[in-house]
Amino acid sequence: WKNAPPTLRHVFENGRAFGEREFMVYEDDRATYEGFGRAAVRLANRLTAEGVTKGDRVAVIMRNLPEWPVAFFAGIITGAIVTPLNAWWTGPELQYGLADSGSKVAIVDDERLERIAPHLDECPDLLRVLVTRLADAPADPRVQRLEDVIGPVNGWAALPVEPMPAVELGPEDDATILYTSGTTGRPKGALGTHRNMTSNIGAGGISVARNFLRAGEPIPVVDPKTAPQRTSLLVVPLFHATGLSATLGPTINAGGKIVLMRRWDAEPAMQLIEREKVNATGGVPTIAWQLIEHPARTKYDLSSLQSVTYGGAPSAPELVRKIPEVFPASAPGNGWGMTETTATFTSHLGKDYENRPESAGPAAPVGEMQIRDPADGVTVLAPGAVGELWVKGPQVVKLYWNKPEATAETFVDGWLRTGDLARIDEEGFLFIIDRAKDMLIRGGENIYCVEVENVLYDHPAVMDAALVGIPHKTLGEEPAAVVHLKPGGEATEQELRDLVRSRLAAFKVPVKVVFWPETLPRNANGKILKTELKKVFQEEPA
Ligand code: ATP
Ligand code: MG
Repeated sequence: WKNAPPTLRHVFENGRAFGEREFMVYEDDRATYEGFGRAAVRLANRLTAEGVTKGDRVAVIMRNLPEWPVAFFAGIITGAIVTPLNAWWTGPELQYGLADSGSKVAIVDDERLERIAPHLDECPDLLRVLVTRLADAPADPRVQRLEDVIGPVNGWAALPVEPMPAVELGPEDDATILYTSGTTGRPKGALGTHRNMTSNIGAGGISVARNFLRAGEPIPVVDPKTAPQRTSLLVVPLFHATGLSATLGPTINAGGKIVLMRRWDAEPAMQLIEREKVNATGGVPTIAWQLIEHPARTKYDLSSLQSVTYGGAPSAPELVRKIPEVFPASAPGNGWGMTETTATFTSHLGKDYENRPESAGPAAPVGEMQIRDPADGVTVLAPGAVGELWVKGPQVVKLYWNKPEATAETFVDGWLRTGDLARIDEEGFLFIIDRAKDMLIRGGENIYCVEVENVLYDHPAVMDAALVGIPHKTLGEEPAAVVHLKPGGEATEQELRDLVRSRLAAFKVPVKVVFWPETLPRNANGKILKTELKKVFQEEPA
């Protein structure tokens, strides 16, 4: 391993040493580390020829494809700031992202090209669009095929070895603009440095080692070059911080293999777990639930699974009990993080989590956490007290791109104000209570949505549950629930309200329960879109 300043360019160079090992599998495409490395360097040289230099923005807009990490590292190698945009965005939203970031080059897939093509004239800085998997020849001269540069995935290993473009890069240089999920408003671009990303990847490894220590087990000494390859099924989008770090940590840093899916679907996922002998999967809690509840689950050999981990959204404590029950070789894992903390900031796996099913784990050993009084944002509260979570560490980004006001509110004296309500116990384990914005106040009484949702999840027929506030003349807000039942599951409104009444104070009981025919609407990061759900109650006032 090279003794070099920690930048993603060095992480990439070290990763290439895994050579002929498989790096990524997607449908019939299979790429080795060496093939991936050659394609990324070749594309980097092309970006340099297009005039991309240090600090320029390069947008990546694709669904999960093996071309995604090639585009990402091609940008990184040239010293560009890689700006992944959300592949779920519409044409105008993508135009906003391209113009806001001032991207010079965009590397996109066929579907995204269709969306941005009518808006190219409204992206003044954009000189070139490289598109992959396009059926017809591009009409616009600005658009060229990515395959004309790097060829198809299965041919990458035969590409010539090229030298990397020369650029001086240091750990404090900017590397990425990652957009937040947009759960509470318009997505914000978090500007991250090389150190932010390398710290996140490195801290992930130390956190795993700490799990073994705490469980009283020896830390397995793993030589990533000789140990059996670990395979992960990646179903969360690469364009969010979680998907990106869940790819870079296990692969480039540890020689693992990633199996990509076009979109999450439980049965094809189980087929892939069996075929590729997948060891790890997860992402968001819904994925774990859908595997557990699937009627055809026992048809597949899922015994290769060693961990099912998730985060990013509240999860019902019941899930942690179910995982070892259903997948005996698997440790459940949970974590908390934000785009602004370059994904995972706290995490735990196995025993620690099983013993504290409501916790998201301790901070990775490079980060600090405080619970502060939300009223003044200054007073640090004692262990056990609920307040706003503030965090600090080398994974925390320094600002929002082009958003000075939001930056000033969120990044204060080297600390990040998270907007999440939480408590930390004596041992340093974090318990997320809810988003500050996901709390409702009914006539002066605080109701944390998650607390009520967790009771609803305890009903055997409930697959999905969300609590929202609906306006009330005198009380301000009242709680109402939207619930989706499991296939064949039965429950009445009265029964669910009684269940909440039996566990929680009367003022927390939803005044109304609406049954939703499908899985609740979520954004690309698996977070329930409560603004969509609230519309149901606007149409028929309670
Ligand atoms: P936006 O900031 O644009 O409104 P977002 O906050 O959903 O969107 P992300 O950065 O993807 O964007 O998500 C971070 C948030 O996800 C956290 O602030 C927290 O509210 C939630 N979250 C993350 N992990 C957990 C967890 N383990 N339990 C509960 N909530 C979590
Ligand atoms: Mg947020």
